[in-house]
Amino acid sequence: MNKFTPKLMRIIFIISFLVVASSCATKPPIEKGNFKNSDLVELVKLDTTLHLDIRYATSNNLVGQPVYTEARAFLQRPAAEALVKINDELKPLGYGLLIFDGYRPWSVTKLFWDITSKENKKFVANPKEGSRHNRGCAIDLSLYDLTTGKEIQMTGEYDEMSERSYPNYKGGTTEQRELRDLLRTKMEANGFTVYKYEWWHFDFQGWETYRIQNIQFSEIK
Ligand SMILES: [Zn+2]
Repeated sequence: MNKFTPKLMRIIFIISFLVVASSCATKPPIEKGNFKNSDLVELVKLDTTLHLDIRYATSNNLVGQPVYTEARAFLQRPAAEALVKINDELKPLGYGLLIFDGYRPWSVTKLFWDITSKENKKFVANPKEGSRHNRGCAIDLSLYDLTTGKEIQMTGEYDEMSERSYPNYKGGTTEQRELRDLLRTKMEANGFTVYKYEWWHFDFQGWETYRIQNIQFSEIK
């Protein structure tokens, strides 16, 4: 005797369909083609004078609660090496780089997308396409004062969803705009490009040659 009645079979089918559908929606897009091997480097291991303020490991972020369990920052090696060079170039001017975020697991990009309103979606990446952060080739950063160690005040706050975040925003003080532009000039002279809606976000050249990843910080040696 078959203990699975047609009705039960139908219920099992529906449940398995829902399980598969929901797991598809929480997985990174599948990318075809050839990609470089990932070589994520922990930034402070290359240069201890890079300062970290990993907002996503704190409650001081757009989610209002930590999304990282470890306050660490990584980039693909060529991008990380370029960053060290920029940090060196800034030192004679009295500044250092303050890092907010580098490589970001895809699951976190998905979370940001899901909680962000439609009108603010331009400030977050669509998980269907993944983010350049997911490839280990984007960095969110600002400057700190070498003498005081304090964060430099820019035209707007990190992750602020307003026009003050645009790199060509004309408001703020002259000093704030000059320092924002100094950061951009140094970054762009070393292979990075600013994102048109965020003065703090830069993509490294060749980002498309690396895959979207979902590896968690705790798994990176
Ligand atoms: Zn970013």
